[in-house]
Amino acid sequence: MKIVLTFDIERDIPGVFNSYFGVKIGLLKILKILDDFNIKGTFFCTGDIIEHLPEYVKIIEHKDHEIACHSLNHERLNQLDYSKCRQLIYQNKKLIENLCQNSEIIGFRAPYLKPPLFLLKILAELGFKYDSSISSPRNLKKYQINGYQIYEFPPSNSNVFFRFPVNLQVFSNWIFKKNLDILYFHPWEAIDMRALIFNQLNLFNKCKNLLIRPDRWINTGDKFINRLRKFIKEALSEKVEFVTLKDLINYKEKTLT
Ligand SMILES: [Zn+2]
Repeated sequence: MKIVLTFDIERDIPGVFNSYFGVKIGLLKILKILDDFNIKGTFFCTGDIIEHLPEYVKIIEHKDHEIACHSLNHERLNQLDYSKCRQLIYQNKKLIENLCQNSEIIGFRAPYLKPPLFLLKILAELGFKYDSSISSPRNLKKYQINGYQIYEFPPSNSNVFFRFPVNLQVFSNWIFKKNLDILYFHPWEAIDMRALIFNQLNLFNKCKNLLIRPDRWINTGDKFINRLRKFIKEALSEKVEFVTLKDLINYKEKTLT
């Protein structure tokens, strides 16, 4: 069984906060865990992070993880027209390529997992090899109307379940039954989001997030970090192989030739 750990590198819940505590604090804790177990992950970075915190993206690259694209400023691409969307993804890719000159940038994930129907056409035109935005494989046909050869790696909608307040074993048992799972996380999950919501938002937004959106704070911070460490340890003991999405592409290309 293979697991891909993917991380969307962006602001602390785009659209809610404008801060970067997740990248400045949480990301380093995540990288330490991956280092400790000597496994590599795939990191989808927004252009916004490249512009504001390039040193953190360089750390990811230096540790030989895969760097991929996640749009310029976490836009809702499905609400934009073709040329605007293409321009944002192009700028995102160029910013990353200029910063990470030792990395080949071949992957993309749409913000909010909401890709426009023409996304695969744009990705093919811009030299990408894969997308990881379409969480429901049943919907894949809708996006392939133009027949563009972009691999799709559906992200598993599991990050909230990962932090769901039940025994982690329930989650692990569910994941280990599969042949392949692409888990996705964010650096802000590795910081205490309840404290951030409490300290930074006005009373209305504070109540809204604490009461209606527990997925934005439940088991974040040290609890998330401890869960991630425990999950990886258990997966390795079950002989799970951790790979990057680029590894999967290389494997597919090798078996096709
Ligand atoms: Zn995102």
